[in-house]
Amino acid sequence: MARFVLSLDDLVNGVLAGDRAVVARAITLVESRRADHQRLAQEMLTRLLPHAGRAHRVGLSGVPGVGKSTFIEGLGCRLTARGHRVAVLAVDPSSSRSGGSILGDKTRMERLSVDPNAFIRPSPSGGRLGGVGRATRETMIVVEAAGYDVVLVETVGTGQSETLVADMVDFFLVLMLPGAGDELQGIKKGILELADMIAVNKADGPNRDKAALAVSQYRAALSIMTPAHPDWVPPVVSCAGLSGEGLDELWEKVFEYRTRMTQNGALQARRQGQQVDWMWSMVEDRLKDAVHGHPEVRALLPVLTEAVTRGGTTATLAATRILEAFGVTAE
Ligand code: GDP
Repeated sequence: MARFVLSLDDLVNGVLAGDRAVVARAITLVESRRADHQRLAQEMLTRLLPHAGRAHRVGLSGVPGVGKSTFIEGLGCRLTARGHRVAVLAVDPSSSRSGGSILGDKTRMERLSVDPNAFIRPSPSGGRLGGVGRATRETMIVVEAAGYDVVLVETVGTGQSETLVADMVDFFLVLMLPGAGDELQGIKKGILELADMIAVNKADGPNRDKAALAVSQYRAALSIMTPAHPDWVPPVVSCAGLSGEGLDELWEKVFEYRTRMTQNGALQARRQGQQVDWMWSMVEDRLKDAVHGHPEVRALLPVLTEAVTRGGTTATLAATRILEAFGVTAE
């Protein structure tokens, strides 16, 4: 277990000075689930908050093998070459089970990981997805306060983690493979609803034609949907993370979104909505933990579970008993 011998002042000043070692320590503090670490983390975040919020937050999703790390490496190096400071975070729910995260693994981004203007942090592991989400959101505050002006949040193509990431970023980019013919059959409508842009990746060599076809198919699929905001119809582009083809054009679109949605106020509204949603999701998470941990509920649970399982009582009545034991009475 990491020890936090740095004082609160040291942490805050080190983060604000962009000291990489202190930034890493601050993130470890944020990820810790120990109550005393959490208290210190919240004090630190409160002081960092006024310095955060200026970054361009971009979520990135796609199935394993679609080329996410190659894409981030290509895009990230381009952005740092233009003077940006890029932080790469990851949300990988599988890391809770395996104890190790593949996403955000530095060895997958060889050039970016040694770039002094980039900071790569793998997914926090352990705990529920909600906990991973909290840690990632708070890590975003830390890296923004440290001066990173582009934050890329990578996740795998599974519904729950995609929604979680889309809810913490300004722009959600979905990478797809060429040869969408088959894929379109199985494409979940949910992901099209979340996407602010679709990029058909690996559009190079013999894949070019298939990629062009996929682009037109995704455009058609999107055209029959109502966009999340009337001012932005999610574009569908093609690119190749490996050669860098199409990455500049892609980033221009991300930038165009930012400019347009800042002018019409939608970006600010999106962020404000995210904060309120986040607040409620934390309330719900903690409430659930409190109910599960309540001694009277714990004592009742085996009997009630057994009764519900064998049909001796209804789920509704059992829920009422649990809530009463917790101290919530029906109106
Ligand atoms: P991830 O699992 O989504 O992070 O995918 P990776 O970035 O690890 O890439 C998976 C495989 O696809 C690797 O063998 C890459 O070399 C290859 N790959 C990634 N990007 C491209 C690309 O733009 N074009 C081609 N042809 N291959 C790519």
